[in-house]
Amino acid sequence: MIPFLDLKKINQPYETAFQEKLKMVLGNGWYILGKELETFEKAFAEYNQTKYCIGVGNGFDALVLIFKGYTELGKLQKGDEVIVPANTYIASILAIMQAELVPVLVEPKLETYNINPVLIQEKITLKTKAILAVHLYGQLSEMEKINEIANQNNLIVVEDAAQSHGAVTNSNNLKFQIPNATDVTLREVEENLGAVAFSFYPGKNLGCLGDGGAITTNDAALAKVLFSLRNYGSEVKYHNKYVGINSRLDELQASFLNLKLPNLNVDNENRRKIAKRYLSEIKNDKIILPFWDLSESHVFHLFVIRTENREALQQYLSQNNIQTVIHYPIPPHKQQAFVNWNNLSFPITEKIHNEVLSLPMSPVLTEKEVDFIIKVLNKY
Ligand SMILES: *Cc1c(COP(=O)(O)O)cnc(C)c1O
Repeated sequence: MIPFLDLKKINQPYETAFQEKLKMVLGNGWYILGKELETFEKAFAEYNQTKYCIGVGNGFDALVLIFKGYTELGKLQKGDEVIVPANTYIASILAIMQAELVPVLVEPKLETYNINPVLIQEKITLKTKAILAVHLYGQLSEMEKINEIANQNNLIVVEDAAQSHGAVTNSNNLKFQIPNATDVTLREVEENLGAVAFSFYPGKNLGCLGDGGAITTNDAALAKVLFSLRNYGSEVKYHNKYVGINSRLDELQASFLNLKLPNLNVDNENRRKIAKRYLSEIKNDKIILPFWDLSESHVFHLFVIRTENREALQQYLSQNNIQTVIHYPIPPHKQQAFVNWNNLSFPITEKIHNEVLSLPMSPVLTEKEVDFIIKVLNKY
């Protein structure tokens, strides 16, 4: 069986180094908010070309904390509306709700699976205060357009980069990590500083051996609040300035991430190589391949195809020993948890959820495995 994702194989090369780190952290006798976290925060901020990085417990908390941080700064208020793509992974939407804000769903583009900037405008009301752009499946959203809309309407831009570590925009021939905070066209605009949420859940492009997450931003005031909010809202021990939470990236996970971060670009390049082969060699009228402009704005967290009779294709691949996964089978507005939304209609989102199928994709997938997957797909 070619597994959809072989996490054991991904982490195997680090085994000895992981064990050494464990020994070291164990020997340090200091397991939360220590040197490994500081090292990682510095390295990840630098990697993203941002001023600040705040390590947190997971990707969901990263999003919640960003919204809570803006609320503490008085830039958001309970009940404010946040625009979010209707086809995102449910965590993006739940995070908005957890921060006592109101998610407003906007349809994606069928081609890119990312939020359609043109449709954002229609959903802006007096209560709209932020846009949460999700770089779904590893491809950056159209940040230039989104930032422009945000600037015109005085909206905060938050990015869910849980699936897009290392994706860069090539605007003005300058390479910047995750565009919002550092985009050249916006750097002068002091107010539009933004914040980006990452997850280090094991299956992400940069994953640890448990839960982990981080926030990056250039906003000094926001960073200061976030360092405190993740630690019970305290800056000085036992003095609580904010109503914070407990969400910290622990020393052991940070130490593992310190080992893996230097290989992230190579891993992403390997993913793109596989994507290039899938895109040029899969030739089957029944299969719609994903859009990619061939730039580094896509890190192929997932390679997501579409097909009309998805169950038949998935079964056929399974019979041929190829494991696939559906990301995601039920759109958020059709979930039982959101019963008030169940009658809403988002045709593009629904089409995506009915037709998508994720092929095996990871930096450790071999050429032979890719050969086989392509051959089997072309015979379908
Ligand atoms: C994984 C993921 C999250 C949540 O990350 P966790 O670390 O699992 O909490 C949020 N948004 C998206 C788009 C994700 O893929």
